[in-house]
Amino acid sequence: MAAGSARIVRYILLSVFVLAVFYYVSHSSYDGPALNTDSFTKGTGFGTHGTPGGLTGSGSGAAGSGSNAAAGSGSSGSSSSSSSGSGLTNQHSGLDAPMAMTPADAGWNDLTGPAPGPRMNATFVTLARNSDVWEIAKSIRHVEDRFNRRYGYDWVFLNDKPFDATFKKVTSSLVSGKTFYGEIPKEHWSFPEWIDQDKARKVREDMAQRKIIYGDSVSYRHMCRFESGFFFRQPLMMNYEYYWRVEPSIELYCDIHYDPFRYMKENNKKYSFVLSLYEYVETIPTLWDSTKKFMKNHPEHIAKDNSMAFLSDDGGDTYNHCHFWSNFEVGSLEWLRSDAYIDFFESLDKDGGFFYERWGDAPVHSIGAGILLPKEEIHFFNDIAYYHVPFTHCPTGEQKRIDLRCHCNPKENFDWKGYSCTSRYFDLNGLEKPEGYEAQQD
Ligand code: GDP
Ligand code: MN
Repeated sequence: MAAGSARIVRYILLSVFVLAVFYYVSHSSYDGPALNTDSFTKGTGFGTHGTPGGLTGSGSGAAGSGSNAAAGSGSSGSSSSSSSGSGLTNQHSGLDAPMAMTPADAGWNDLTGPAPGPRMNATFVTLARNSDVWEIAKSIRHVEDRFNRRYGYDWVFLNDKPFDATFKKVTSSLVSGKTFYGEIPKEHWSFPEWIDQDKARKVREDMAQRKIIYGDSVSYRHMCRFESGFFFRQPLMMNYEYYWRVEPSIELYCDIHYDPFRYMKENNKKYSFVLSLYEYVETIPTLWDSTKKFMKNHPEHIAKDNSMAFLSDDGGDTYNHCHFWSNFEVGSLEWLRSDAYIDFFESLDKDGGFFYERWGDAPVHSIGAGILLPKEEIHFFNDIAYYHVPFTHCPTGEQKRIDLRCHCNPKENFDWKGYSCTSRYFDLNGLEKPEGYEAQQD
């Protein structure tokens, strides 16, 4: 009898426990950040990122779906109120958890479990088609394995068409942070009304004949214009302060021991790069003329101590075609949403070169950063080893590569080769080139 009633009590306790767990789980789903729907205004500040309450779809067709309770999460419930929006814990402030920047710093080798220290108001961002799913899956795997698994930053995916179920399922299963999926409004992915369609078509036919890469593509032009002027003001991006752009099929070759977003914030950096090179001149014959027109019309936006020497060898008269390769970027969304950058983009957009030529977002961002930002606000992330076909950034110096546990072949490092502009960046900023760079010059 006694054994029997003890069993019943055990059953009751177990049932209560199971019900309590069930209740907790079903009430801890997190619907994503509350969005600031006052989008598409210049210089807009941030809302309360990380505030629960569900995505409020905006009039521009963004369809977000928070998903994916973070692995190892103890705090992704609806009570989450940290400024990070991250599922991974971050109880420490910046003061009691300084970042380990070199192997000599405490914590350098602690690469397991959630990273200590605060999280920034930041997100990864990827523009992709549904057909890119397996290529972006590879990129996510690299980013997570080398960095984000310890940080749980969010990831925003943008597309000119609705994302399909497979894309969402695969990507949300791989990202340790929350994932959001936005559809780009038509007006950010189409010809502006001032574009002469006949003229644009003739350019495409001509470029096709001259075999200029993507020269005949309409969608590539929409992509470049979108990345130049619109990704940072999509509703899903409005509540973040920093972004890290990730494209399909990229690779990361070294462990990332510290938080690049936090590095940007603490060092007041607005734009960063890992690879730089010369742009294919046929795609931008009049981009510098448009830039000069903008500089004349808006002297108030031009930074005093800028990086003109990176862009021009004759004090600004002509463009040397150097640009930061924008398929990798960690940058400030606030800067891109500033009056200075928006005025720059709108001035270029009115000139029509996204369609009458084939202006890429890389020279547009680079010229923007080069003339609108003081030079110390542009950062070279030597520690982030990166590949996007066909170029590699592999840190110079064997000890560096060992400290960072890199798996890239140093012979492939592009930094010091003739077609790279990174030397100019070092010279302009008075930076000392890393030991051993001479041996990698060809
Ligand atoms: P490349 O790196 O210059 O050769 O250009 P990519 O083909 O990698 O395109 C750049 C980025 O834009 C990638 O993230 C692509 O997934 C994305 N992209 C390119 N074209 C389109 C498109 O038509 N629709 C969408 N949604 N994304 C695109
Ligand atoms: Mn690409």
